[in-house]
Amino acid sequence: MHVARPGRLSEVPYHPVVDLIHRVIGPAATNLYVLADPRSREAIAIDTAIPSVAWLTELLAGRGWTLKLIVSTHGHWDHIGDNAAVAAHTGAPIAAHPADRAMLEHPEPLFAPFPIPPSVPAVELAEGGRIVFGSIVLDVLHTPGHTPGSVCLTLRDEAALLSGDTLFAGGPGRVDLAGGDPGAMVGSLARLAGLDPTLRVLPGHGKATTIERELPWIGAVVRAGSLW
Ligand SMILES: [Zn+2]
Ligand SMILES: [Zn+2]
Repeated sequence: MHVARPGRLSEVPYHPVVDLIHRVIGPAATNLYVLADPRSREAIAIDTAIPSVAWLTELLAGRGWTLKLIVSTHGHWDHIGDNAAVAAHTGAPIAAHPADRAMLEHPEPLFAPFPIPPSVPAVELAEGGRIVFGSIVLDVLHTPGHTPGSVCLTLRDEAALLSGDTLFAGGPGRVDLAGGDPGAMVGSLARLAGLDPTLRVLPGHGKATTIERELPWIGAVVRAGSLW
């Protein structure tokens, strides 16, 4: 959003509202996303896998950004590993859905190649909730299935969906891990299928896609009422 002087709209150049920076982190190749409002210099980090603390603090220092919130899309170790370290370095609180709170507080690092420190969420992400910093506005969708407390976040104005491990390019997240629920995943996919098809999807692993590109298989899943 930019402020235009009346009558001079056509002279106002387009400035991106939100800076979106992405880095692939750690042994599970987790997508860590940093959103920042370049004007207010407020930033949010999403899914701080190990090792993200050094890169992230360097990025924040280099840009003059203040981290305001650490968001975990869900409680798996490859999305929460550096939560405690990043919180300690930046003072930013951690946000997660209450249904995954115990996974952050008592990590179960199944197949993790290193210990996962516990972290304590101070902010509850709930269905219909909204995260607002500067011009960053994220709406919270509770999308259980991969885990009970998985969330997706829609980023306003940038027409993007941060989909965690719920929706990937080419398929859904796993439902065979602890807390996975195939029926809930079908319901969550049905919700995502109803979003604006032009939404850019930024998943927890792998490459970006759009809702439109995924609609053929999501539609088949929703019609069948089953992932298989
Ligand atoms: Zn996961
Ligand atoms: Zn993951």
